[in-house]
Amino acid sequence: MKLSQLSVRTRLTLWYSAVLLAIVVTIGALSYSWLRFGLLQDLDASLLTVAQVVKDVDAPARAGGDHEALLRELLGPELYDKFFQLLDPEGRPRATSPARRPYALPLSPAARARVARGQNTFETVTPADAEPVRILTMPIVREGRVVEIVQVGMLLRRARATLDRYLDTLTVLIPIGVGLAALGGAIIAQVALRPLDRMTRTARRISAEDLSQRVERPRTGDELDRLAETMNDMLARLEQAFSQSRRFAADAAHELRTPLAALRGSIEVALKGARSPEEYRRVLASNLEEVERLIRLSEDLLLLSRSMAGPEPTRATVELEPLLLEVFDLGARLGQPAGVSVRIENAAPASVRGEAAGLRRALVNLVENAIKYTPRGGNVELSLGVGPETAVIEVSDTGIGIGSADAERIFDPFVRLDAARSRDTGGAGLGLAIARSIVVAHGGTLSVESRPGSGSRFTIRLPLAPA
Ligand code: ADP
Repeated sequence: MKLSQLSVRTRLTLWYSAVLLAIVVTIGALSYSWLRFGLLQDLDASLLTVAQVVKDVDAPARAGGDHEALLRELLGPELYDKFFQLLDPEGRPRATSPARRPYALPLSPAARARVARGQNTFETVTPADAEPVRILTMPIVREGRVVEIVQVGMLLRRARATLDRYLDTLTVLIPIGVGLAALGGAIIAQVALRPLDRMTRTARRISAEDLSQRVERPRTGDELDRLAETMNDMLARLEQAFSQSRRFAADAAHELRTPLAALRGSIEVALKGARSPEEYRRVLASNLEEVERLIRLSEDLLLLSRSMAGPEPTRATVELEPLLLEVFDLGARLGQPAGVSVRIENAAPASVRGEAAGLRRALVNLVENAIKYTPRGGNVELSLGVGPETAVIEVSDTGIGIGSADAERIFDPFVRLDAARSRDTGGAGLGLAIARSIVVAHGGTLSVESRPGSGSRFTIRLPLAPA
């Protein structure tokens, strides 16, 4: 099994234990070699003391043979576990402490060379079939000449035993310590991750049907709390989006049903008895009108759902000035029969990135509305200005206006403020929803300022194309 397949809790515990083990082993190794170094230093220091005393004891006393008693008197317990031998400058033995000397101390070539230079030598020697021993070889120099060599030795047994005991302690204590720490770590990880388990369980219960449920927040202000908060925000947005699309589907079905029911009614009536060709023609003509309404509606629905799905992938630079002039032309032609005069107030050159057809559609919807909701004799004005990094298109009219309570609502799909008024104009309440979703897909905003009775001003703001 790979490490990444394990649970976070197990992984955390493993990592934690591995790091702890590495630290403790390093500390163990360091302290072991420190202890070893310290023990050897002490040992060497006491070898040196003994060697000094042996050297300082009078030669005649040594020659007399009772030098060991004298040394014991001088050194006390210091001599207890040591043995020494005296050699002539050529390395031949003279006097020894035979009582505790297990074998003749060897004089290595290196030590002999250093003796010739008047220097002390500490060395660890392991003779064949014997215990390792620490030896100090020290020359006795009189009048610039090496007259004698003192060798003091000590078995390393005790120092070794101390080190072995320390190593044994480490090998027992380190696994126990790391094991206990791993156990503690696992418990801490489990406790810390418990809220996450709870969140997972709740999240699993939440389905598309029941998005009103929320993940329980630990309210600790930490990372897990923020995660729960983020999940809840996401759920709220999802819930809103779901209910919006449900409402949209219901409204669309309702919009489609009305003209279809009218169609069925008139067809049923026509089929009830024999009709004259003139009557059939009338029924068919009115049916055609309904069918055209249905086609317009389904086209609008398609356009709305496409523009709500996000911006078009292909984006070109769109010059807004010619686009505005084009829409103005169309508006002027629409306004004439309605007795509404359409004018252009000002048009500055501006270009944005996006899709010309979509932007034209949004603008046409605004101009059509302005003409539709402006009584005879009124004015509609178009303007295109450039603000800081934005192009601003305004469509203002001197029409009936919109109450402030309805100013945001009118951008929702299928919202018509006055049913009677809309029926004869034939709108399904999708025009502004389409316009806004197109503008938003272009990274812009569409807003309205209006006062009932004195007209409205719709404003499109679009980010300018980078120069
Ligand atoms: P419709 O197809 O009914 O025109 P819209 O989405 O274009 O649908 O508009 C929604 C509603 O907003 C309209 O029914 C109307 O009541 C109101 N409205 C839109 N534009 C204007 C305007 N220029 N003046 C007054 N009311 C408007």
